[in-house]
Amino acid sequence: MISRTGSRWQHELRDAICSAQTLFELLELDGALAPKALKADKDFPLRVPRPFVDRIKKGDWKDPLLLQVLPLAEELDYTPGFSTDPLAERQAIAAPGLIHKYHGRVLLIATASCAIHCRYCFRRHFPYQENKPGTAQWKQALDYIRQDKSIKEVILSGGDPLLAPDRYLAELVDQLADIAHLERLRIHTRLPIVIPQRITTECLDWLTTSRLQPIVVLHCNHANEIDRAVAESIEQLLKRGVTVLNQSVLLRQINDRVDTLIELSEALFSVGVLPYYLHLLDRVAGAAHFDVAEVEALALIDQLRSKLPGYMVPKLVKEQAGKSSKTPI
Ligand code: SF4
Repeated sequence: MISRTGSRWQHELRDAICSAQTLFELLELDGALAPKALKADKDFPLRVPRPFVDRIKKGDWKDPLLLQVLPLAEELDYTPGFSTDPLAERQAIAAPGLIHKYHGRVLLIATASCAIHCRYCFRRHFPYQENKPGTAQWKQALDYIRQDKSIKEVILSGGDPLLAPDRYLAELVDQLADIAHLERLRIHTRLPIVIPQRITTECLDWLTTSRLQPIVVLHCNHANEIDRAVAESIEQLLKRGVTVLNQSVLLRQINDRVDTLIELSEALFSVGVLPYYLHLLDRVAGAAHFDVAEVEALALIDQLRSKLPGYMVPKLVKEQAGKSSKTPI
C-alpha cells in the first residue's frame, strides 16, 4: 500500500543513488567493466532514485532504464550541431524563470532540480542560477502573465516541478488561479514515474481544487518504467479528474524498436494514459549518442500506425528554436 503522506517520497529523494559504485553494487554489475565513462558524471552527476533502480534488470549493462541514467564517455565527445542551448530557450526568457515561446501558454520554472538525471536531458546546461525559482521571483513572472491576456495556460516545469514542496506549489497555484484569463494548469513531470509515492493527498488537493483545469504530462520512455506503484499513482490522478498524457523521447538503444514502442503505448494506455508525443532528441551537447535519425523515426511511426489503433500512436515531433509550435514530422 502506498503511503499518501509527504514523508515517504521525501525519504526516497534523500535516499537516491548518487554514486556509480553503489549503483553497480545494487545492480550486480562489475564496476571494473564499467565503461571508462564515469568522467561525464562530473558535469551532470549521476542521480537515480531507488524505486526506479528497482525496475532495472540486475547484471544487464544494456537495460533500457539503466542506459537513461548511466553517465558514459560519449557524453564528453564534441558533435557538430549539438549545443548547450539547443532550443534557444535563453532568448525566450520573458521574466526570471518564465519562458514564453508559444502563443497562449508560458512555461514557469518551478524548481531547478530533478529527482533523476536523465542523460539526454535538453536542459542539462540550462542556467538555473540566473532563473532560480522561488517566491521572490514569482512576482515578475506573475506580473508578466497578468499583463498578457492571450495566455490561457501555465506549464509548470523545471527541473521537475513536483520536486517542490506541496505548500509552495499550493501557494503558486493559488496566485495563478487569481489571474482571470488563465484557464489551464499543466504540469510536466517525471516524478510519478521515478518516485510514484510523490502523488500524495496534499499534491492531489492543490492540483485539483483550484479553478484551473489540471493536466499532467508524464515523461516515460519505456514500458518497464511502469510498475504497480506507478499505475496506482496514475489512478489517483485520474480519479481526481486530472487529464494524464505522456511524452517520450525517441532514444537510441532504449526505445528505437517498433516492438518496444508498441509495448510502451500499450502499457501507458492500460493505466489510463494517452501517448501524446514522441519527441526526436533535442540536439543537446553530451547526448548525441542517443540520437535517432528522422528517417528512421518516420519508418518506426509508420509501423506503429499499421499495428496500433490511432489513439495509441503518439505524434512524432521535434522542437525547433524560433518556431511557433512543435514541428510534426
Ligand atoms: S526529469 Fe526531465 S528535466 Fe529532469 S533530467 Fe530528466 S528529462 Fe531533464
